[in-house]
Amino acid sequence: MTHSKYRPATLLVHQGKDRDPATGAATVPIYQASTYHHEGGTSGVYDYVRSGNPSREQVEEAIALLEGGVRGFAYASGMAAIGSTLSLLKSGDHLIASSDLYGGSWRFITGVLPQQGISISLVDTSDTEAVTAAITPQTRALFLETPSNPLFKITDLRAMVAIARDNGLITMLDNTFMTPLLQRPLDLGIDVTIHSATKFLGGHSDILAGLVTTADAQLAKRLKYFQNAFGAVLSPFESFLLSRGIKTLKVRLQAGQASAQALAERLTEHPAVARVWFPGLVDFSGRELHFSQASGAGAVLSFELKEEPQVKKLLESIKLPIIAPSLGGVETILTHCWSMSHAAIPAPDKLRQGITKNLLRISVGLEDVEDLWEDLETGLVPCNL
Ligand SMILES: *Cc1c(COP(=O)(O)O)cnc(C)c1O
Repeated sequence: MTHSKYRPATLLVHQGKDRDPATGAATVPIYQASTYHHEGGTSGVYDYVRSGNPSREQVEEAIALLEGGVRGFAYASGMAAIGSTLSLLKSGDHLIASSDLYGGSWRFITGVLPQQGISISLVDTSDTEAVTAAITPQTRALFLETPSNPLFKITDLRAMVAIARDNGLITMLDNTFMTPLLQRPLDLGIDVTIHSATKFLGGHSDILAGLVTTADAQLAKRLKYFQNAFGAVLSPFESFLLSRGIKTLKVRLQAGQASAQALAERLTEHPAVARVWFPGLVDFSGRELHFSQASGAGAVLSFELKEEPQVKKLLESIKLPIIAPSLGGVETILTHCWSMSHAAIPAPDKLRQGITKNLLRISVGLEDVEDLWEDLETGLVPCNL
């Protein structure tokens, strides 16, 4: 980690290694080998691909540098990264998690952890007092997402860190929506940050990947042990594509964010739209808190249509975005949260959280914003027509 003096945009491009140390090649190649020769019977730097390889190391060093961690870890998916981070808990422990979570995280936390003897409480973590009230003598960790998805609830990270320090808890934050460019949670005292690198970090809707980093050397040791023991690691090929995606994160995110701002403002004015959620809007309720811990609004927004039939009309008419459960790609992605990203959550739970059938989420890509707006506008039919 010799590059840590550089600013984020430089780190994105140069990452852990500027070039392949073995050959000087401009990129660290895909080291497509499962094992390594042990000269004279002694292991060199690398011994077996699951334990470590140069292609994966490139992205593991990149995430540690970008977030200010001591060590990074790359996994075969964001969910593998989340499951591996939660392996820091053991039977008998209690976890407090944000109630407004990514659907897959909700499924893992409510469906898998209890089977392992870990009890859970889902709490609106934007309510600091509710978090304090949920702590029991068995509580060991807080699992957070801010802004939450899809309703952009903002959790006060400094307050969470203070609560965690008072009660000896590990803080874990899914930072997928913000990326290390817009939010650096380890600087605020969060213990572990997690990314679905399938989204903005990969950036091209062509890989499945997860990244984790921590500034705590003891936690890093335990994460490394579990990564190698469990084996859900990122392959050399996917590591190469992820490294390539990370290099352009800054320009992609800035462009998507600027267009998201324009679309959010226009949607707010549109008669077919009931409500818009985007931290960049002047009247966004969590705005001040969000910008006290993040440097941008991001490139994702949610909006609710007034009547359910409008959703079908929009999804049938719209041409440019892919209609899919994902975000963070170069192309705009439109998600019907009810049936896609949050399908794993039962209907009553979704409704309790405010996720209705009329809710849509847009991850704004790199198309011309006027083309995106014309496309959206054509499908936005006011309900009285
Ligand atoms: C997509 C996503 C995940 C899961 O990541 P995968 O790479 O799909 O396994 C976790 N958290 C958030 C916020 C996500 O958007």
